[in-house]
Amino acid sequence: MALMTGEQYIESIRKLNLQIYMFGKKIETPVDDPILRPSLNSVRMTYDLAQMPEYQDVMTATSALTGNRINRFCHIHQSTDDLIKKVKMQRLLGQQTASCFQRCVGMDAFNALYSTTYETDQEYKTDYFENFKRFATYVEENDLTVDGAMTDPKGDRGLAPHAQADADMYLHVVERRPDGVVVRGAKAHQTGIINSHEVIVMPTIAMGPDDKDYAISFAVPTDSEGIFMIIGRQSCDTRKLEGSDMDVGNSEFGGVEALVVFDNVFVPNDRIFLNGEAEFAGMMVERFAGYHRQSYGGCKVGVGDVLIGAAAVAAEYNGADKASHVKDKLIEMVHLNETLFACGIACSAEGTKTKSGNYIIDLLLANVCKQNVTRFPYEIVRLAEDIAGGLMVTAPSEKDLRDEKVGPYIEKYLKGVSRVSTENRLRILRLIENLSLGTAAVGYRTESMHGAGSPQAQRIMIARQGNLGAKKKLAKKIAHISE
Ligand SMILES: Cc1cc2nc3c(=O)[nH]c(=O)nc-3n(C[C@H](O)[C@H](O)[C@H](O)COP(=O)(O)OP(=O)(O)OC[C@H]3O[C@@H](n4cnc5c(N)ncnc54)[C@H](O)[C@@H]3O)c2cc1C
Repeated sequence: MALMTGEQYIESIRKLNLQIYMFGKKIETPVDDPILRPSLNSVRMTYDLAQMPEYQDVMTATSALTGNRINRFCHIHQSTDDLIKKVKMQRLLGQQTASCFQRCVGMDAFNALYSTTYETDQEYKTDYFENFKRFATYVEENDLTVDGAMTDPKGDRGLAPHAQADADMYLHVVERRPDGVVVRGAKAHQTGIINSHEVIVMPTIAMGPDDKDYAISFAVPTDSEGIFMIIGRQSCDTRKLEGSDMDVGNSEFGGVEALVVFDNVFVPNDRIFLNGEAEFAGMMVERFAGYHRQSYGGCKVGVGDVLIGAAAVAAEYNGADKASHVKDKLIEMVHLNETLFACGIACSAEGTKTKSGNYIIDLLLANVCKQNVTRFPYEIVRLAEDIAGGLMVTAPSEKDLRDEKVGPYIEKYLKGVSRVSTENRLRILRLIENLSLGTAAVGYRTESMHGAGSPQAQRIMIARQGNLGAKKKLAKKIAHISE
């Protein structure tokens, strides 16, 4: 089975024995939980769209490992065309879900590990590349969703992993056995782990010789013994329990993050992709971060498309759409959004072949892409809030709208242009609220800031890759300076 249907995907997640905790309770059937279900629907869309003939080219690819048709989320990029299609696929999914669809982290881990395991093997004569290819083939052939787990809790940010007061602040090997290793620690902010079949664990920072036990990468099933997940709250999450799809803004789709604890988890030898070769931790981090920073030039742009559309509809419903400043604000939003897309496409088009044969983005341009993503969605949200008006945060509930006594007053006084119902006006404002301040703001705003690394992480890479020396030479040549 190279491609699962959406329904098959849901049932495959239902069969997992995941240990998920929320509001102090173990969630027995996460697939049917009203708070969690929208996040599963978003991942499902990555399966549903792959089944549709009109999206085949962007959503599927020919596997380099088996020659079979596979979902692009499992693909090892073979060309710059693959890198470009990845970004287009992500924009499409952002447009269809208006949320984080969670499957990108695994895809980005896949491509980072493919080249890093190859280069580690070349140096150390290890078997990581073969281990990884076997795992990748299994994932592709079964069309699995994989979580990419990089971020450790990190404790004191000023100290290296081995120097922390609590040795578990970075995930590490606690026991070495002939058949594998036992690991302990945690990964924070894990996007979509509760909707994933497997988790790929990677180190979170470059490491030195004292951090050998922390330089560990592997993959295990998400329901392995010792793994449990504690769901992160989102602003307005319990609105989903109130039974009003209107008040939620986007009731069908969403994202989800969790703190994932690895409490003495066994990893068999054939699932290990790095184990003590500390100098390759940095390469893995840099490549994963590069691919993930490219990703944001697609996914956030798709969500931006929905938000811009919502702002334009709100302007129409308010009767303000003909005002020149409103038109100009919408133009600015489109300009910012397309600039992000341009960066995503540019770092893909300038991609190059790695020693292992897969393709990697231009790292400088991918970091510029993500640096812009830490800013532009905030400005797009600001403009959307400006256009929407204050009602996006002061509107009464759907229950009040339906109430016999107060409902008619809401109908009357919260109407915009006469041809549009008050309900429709409130619906579009709730969507803007959801994307700016509600559950989807986790994915559209704060994930834009910190996901794939906080802004300073990109500036460090831009400083490294910017080649100021060459630029100074150019200036001196033009100015006829010889020293
Ligand atoms: C919505 C969301 C989804 C995410 N999904 C995933 C995921 O799926 N997988 C995953 O692995 N990670 C994920 N992340 C984690 C993301 O990569 C981290 O949030 C990011 O790397 C920042 O780490 P932090 O949150 O621990 O912030 P911190 O490290 O606490 O950073 C806070 C501030 O301190 C600064 N800082 C931190 N350390 C230092 C230092 N040593 N010196 C100077 N300044 C420092 C930072 O630059 C930043 O300004 C997600 C994050 C979010 C918000």
